[in-house]
Amino acid sequence: MKIGIIGAGIAGLAAAYDLSTKGHKVTVYEAAPFIGGQASTIPVGGAPLERGYHHLFTNDKAILDLMDDLGIGEAMKWYPSRVGTYTSGKVYKTTTALDLLRFGAIPFLDRIKLGLFALKVGRIKDWRCLEDETADYWLRERLGGKAYEKVWAPLLKGKFGRYFDQIGMPWFWSKIQTRFASRQGIRGREMLGYPDGSFDTILDKLEADIRSRDGKIHISTPVEKVEVVDGVAKALIAKSPDGEVIREEVDTILSTVPSFSFPDLVELPDDYKKRLTDVHYLAAVVVVLELDQPLTSFYWMNIADPDVPFLGLIEHTNMLPKEWYGGRNLLYLTNYLDRNDDVYKMSEAELLDLYLPHLTKFNPKFDRSWIKKVHYNALSAAQPIIGTNYSKAIPDHRTPVKKLYLANTTQIYPEDRGTNYSIRMGRELAQMIISDEQQSWSNWK
Ligand SMILES: Cc1cc2nc3c(=O)[nH]c(=O)nc-3n(C[C@H](O)[C@H](O)[C@H](O)COP(=O)(O)OP(=O)(O)OC[C@H]3O[C@@H](n4cnc5c(N)ncnc54)[C@H](O)[C@@H]3O)c2cc1C
Repeated sequence: MKIGIIGAGIAGLAAAYDLSTKGHKVTVYEAAPFIGGQASTIPVGGAPLERGYHHLFTNDKAILDLMDDLGIGEAMKWYPSRVGTYTSGKVYKTTTALDLLRFGAIPFLDRIKLGLFALKVGRIKDWRCLEDETADYWLRERLGGKAYEKVWAPLLKGKFGRYFDQIGMPWFWSKIQTRFASRQGIRGREMLGYPDGSFDTILDKLEADIRSRDGKIHISTPVEKVEVVDGVAKALIAKSPDGEVIREEVDTILSTVPSFSFPDLVELPDDYKKRLTDVHYLAAVVVVLELDQPLTSFYWMNIADPDVPFLGLIEHTNMLPKEWYGGRNLLYLTNYLDRNDDVYKMSEAELLDLYLPHLTKFNPKFDRSWIKKVHYNALSAAQPIIGTNYSKAIPDHRTPVKKLYLANTTQIYPEDRGTNYSIRMGRELAQMIISDEQQSWSNWK
């Protein structure tokens, strides 16, 4: 088969890899001037670093399996993480269960309740029984007290903004499952994975393997239309970097573009289109600061304070060696925002003016002179908002157009989006395409 893939994110590349290893001829079209999508990197201090902070959990099996298949399994390394939580004007260490008992921001009984609540959710095996309630409702009604008020409510509001009370409970359940799995290590301390050489190690090997089997990957080549004849996808129309229109006839097409841009590529029936447009996405705005000294001693800082204008502070070099980055301390300041939010529209300088005065809350000695370089990244389709009873509303991978498939982060469920799940989905789609062809596409009547 000749297969056209739209998007060279990790899902598109994983699908292209499997299809090419099975002897199919793939062409991947990527709009951006680089591969990797949300997991792509930029050079920082002489080494590649993800545009948005990235790490893995110990139960991220699909990505570990793929790395083994690629022969790069040994590149995955595990590091103990240090987690802090900023609330009530203070940073608290919240790395282990013991830290939770000492978490002075809330009364002792609420700390016990907070820990027991997480254990209770962690023991739930079937997420389906949680589907018709929101995470906010569960946390407010079944946890409540200061643990809800001081910890979970501000975290939910920080992460999901005005959608905070619409997120389905399976999202919270899946977060607890991954956190628990990663905590089974040394004395309950979380172990996080990061590949030697960054996520580029995986992306570059995927690219090399696809190309070695005569697969093509065209960057800076956005697909503008999917040509459909008698209800069947026939060709891709893309624009080359020098503005030329490219038309490629293919046997089948896999699109990995976000749901909000898929209807621009192809005419779709209203009910399927509604499933796509019913899911909102938050964008991410991520600032990376190269500092000449560390801001804190934590890798991951939860910010449970609505007065701080960013959601998280991730100090990459408190988990990975700063020597990899020319001795620089790397700090991400991150926010998830509506694409029409004023902060999303701010320039880098405006964002710094908004953010930097707050850094003294985490280290009173912080001074702007510590900043040696700033990198700014905006990612438009960063976080889908997944509400209640979503299993009944997920758009099918097999779209209403025969031989046209869709695989994007809104179709990952009940887990939250992540590289592991995009890889799992990409590989499942490769398998689906192959078996649909073997059954003469009878899945489309
Ligand atoms: C700030 C941030 C932090 C994250 N942290 C983690 C983490 O710690 N661990 C983790 O596992 N995951 C993390 N993720 C999530 C993870 O990066 C994504 O879930 C995953 O990379 C999504 O891969 P994808 O291939 O499904 O989608 P994408 O990466 O979005 O790929 C889609 C691709 O399609 C391309 N495209 C769009 N339109 C067109 C078109 N018309 N023609 C051609 N190409 C097109 C896009 O340019 C893009 O490359 C994070 C994400 C963000 C934003």
